[in-house]
Order: sequence, then structure tokens, then C-alpha cells
Amino acid sequence: MSRFWSARVHDLVPYVPGEQPKTRDLVKLNTNECPYPPSPHVAGAVAEAAGSLRLYPDPASTALREAAARANGLSPEQVFVGNGSDEVLAHSFQALLKQDRPLLFPDITYSFYPVYCGLYDIAFQTVPLDEGFAVRVEDYRQPCGAIILPNPNAPTGTPLPLREIERLLREHPDVPVVVDEAYVAFGAESAAPLIRHHPNLLVVRTLSKSHALAGLRVGFALGDPALIEALVRVKDSFNSYPIDRLAEAAAIAALDDRAWFDHTVGRIRADRERLRAGLEGLGFRVLPSDANFLFASHPDRDGAALQAALRAEGVLVRHFNKERIAGFLRITVGTTAECDRLLGALRRILRPT
Ligand code: PMP
Repeated sequence: MSRFWSARVHDLVPYVPGEQPKTRDLVKLNTNECPYPPSPHVAGAVAEAAGSLRLYPDPASTALREAAARANGLSPEQVFVGNGSDEVLAHSFQALLKQDRPLLFPDITYSFYPVYCGLYDIAFQTVPLDEGFAVRVEDYRQPCGAIILPNPNAPTGTPLPLREIERLLREHPDVPVVVDEAYVAFGAESAAPLIRHHPNLLVVRTLSKSHALAGLRVGFALGDPALIEALVRVKDSFNSYPIDRLAEAAAIAALDDRAWFDHTVGRIRADRERLRAGLEGLGFRVLPSDANFLFASHPDRDGAALQAALRAEGVLVRHFNKERIAGFLRITVGTTAECDRLLGALRRILRPT
């Protein structure tokens, strides 16, 4: 450790991202990317925007905020844009989730949340998922300064019905509630329609998964203009542009291509159910999932050992070495052929010797 580091940095436990392999021959089902290319309109939009790269981007991302507002029946003042939803979340932690009382989030959830708490010195309290690995809203009835949860939850994939989110908002009218909808397009109900009645609700979205733009880094938040203004203040304090010209043009093209989106999401949902049936046929317990991944455990096999065996077969999946979920694998729904390769590899691994 460098003696020049500050104590805060020394104590930080950084986020560990999923592996991005250097070789191309691996089946990559470990970081929930879309297995299909983005809308064909994206390439043309990027080429056109490349013609004006000598100019700085619009610091307010006006055109993209308008596109996101259009897509969600909101106004541009209800939209905030960032470099991936991770950046939007980071600003939310700083601007909204640091309160006098602790922040609540599920004990098994997106592992970035405790990292942001460490970074911004936010007190937090985790709330256990129920026996079925779902969020139970009544467990959040405790004094708190703010709440954040993904819907569907990650890495479990389990959805929370809209009426439950509404109940959570009714029971906590005075604290910011952030719903991280990174995977909402794959089947869960969005909380965005609740924004009109709940000025404390912030909905965070990404174009990384359902719009196949993980490489671009675009995310946004939807909420009451007062919440959005808090995020803008934090962003402007970094003197940073939200996103660059190429990303903005690509994101608008992707958001406006509803037909591509519906088709791609439909394919992934169909393959998810095929993959679920295949895994269950091999003896796996598979949690209910409304995401583009499945969370599955095998009664006879250790999660870490299965992950390693799959890697040796050329298939990458994610494993979390954490209490209660150490037996599980998080498997991204790939193309039909990729899912078949995974199932074939598992069949070989599980074959009695
Ligand atoms: N929220 C959740 C629950 C996620 O799993 C991810 C992806 N790792 C993100 C947010 C961040 O996605 P991105 O920064 O690519 O928008």
C-alpha cells in the first residue's frame, strides 16, 4: 500500500467486475450483456455524429433526454443522463441516498451498492431476502434515510410486483426510494408510471442490457424534477459532460427503434424459458427470473467448482462467493446456440463418472 494513500482509499473494498476475456472463443454468459447487436440504426447515427467531433457535446444532453422522455411518457425535466447507469447510481448515492438515517437495501443485491456506501461514507443496513430470494416490502418497515433496490433484483433475477413497489412508496413517503431497473425490460413492471404520484421515486435505467449498448456507457434516471436537479448539481460539481457525442447519437437511435427492441427482448425471453427448462432437466433449482439471466444451483455440486468446470469447457458464467448464494451460478441468457453450448457442457460435467 502506498504511504501516500488517504485512509479512506485504503479502507475501500472496490467492486470486482465480471471477467472480460481476451480470447474470443469463449461463450460469454457472465456479465449480462445482450447477445445480439444493437439496432441497425445505431451505426449510421454514430457515423453522422463523428462529423462533429471537434465540438464539445451538449452538457445537458437535451436531445437524449427528450428521447428518453418520449419513450417513457415523461418530460425532459424528469430525465437525467449519465455514463452508464453505474454513474447515474453513483450520483444518486451522493445526492440522494446519504441521509442522517441508514440507507436500506437487500442483503443479496447488486454488489456495487456497498461499494458506493464505502466511497461516500454512507451508513447502510441490509434487509434479508425472503426464503424464496424475493424482496418482502414489510421487512423495510424500519427507520431509514433512503431505500434502493433493483427490480428485478440482481443477481437473483426475482421481480417485485408494481403493487409492492407502490406499497413501499406509500409506507415511505418522506425518504428517497431508488428503483434500479437495469433489467426491467425482460419482464418486470416498471415503476416509471408511479413517478407522477411519488416525488420521492427515482427510477434508474441502462441501455447496456436491453438495448445492447454496454460498450457505449449510457444510463439515465427518471424522477421528479427536484430529484433530477440534485443529480445535476452533483454532476456539474465534477465539471463533467454526461456523455459524449457518439454515445448520445447512438442512444437516441437505439431508444427510437422500438421494433428492434421488442424483437430482441422477445428472443431473449423465449431463450430464457428454454434455458430454464434445460437447467431444470439437469436437476438445477432455478429461481423465478424476469431478467436476461437465470440464477441456478445444483443440489450435488458446489457453485465455484461448477463455474471452474464450465470455464474449462469454454463457457463463462458468474459465481458470487457469498453466504446463502455460494451454491448458485448466474447465467446470462445468450443466443440459442450459446445456451445449447452451456447445456451441453453441463451435461458432460454432471455425467456420472
Ligand atoms: N444495476 C444493476 C443491478 C446491474 O447489474 C448493472 C450492471 N452491472 C448496473 C446497474 C450497471 O449497468 P451499466 O453501468 O452498464 O448501465
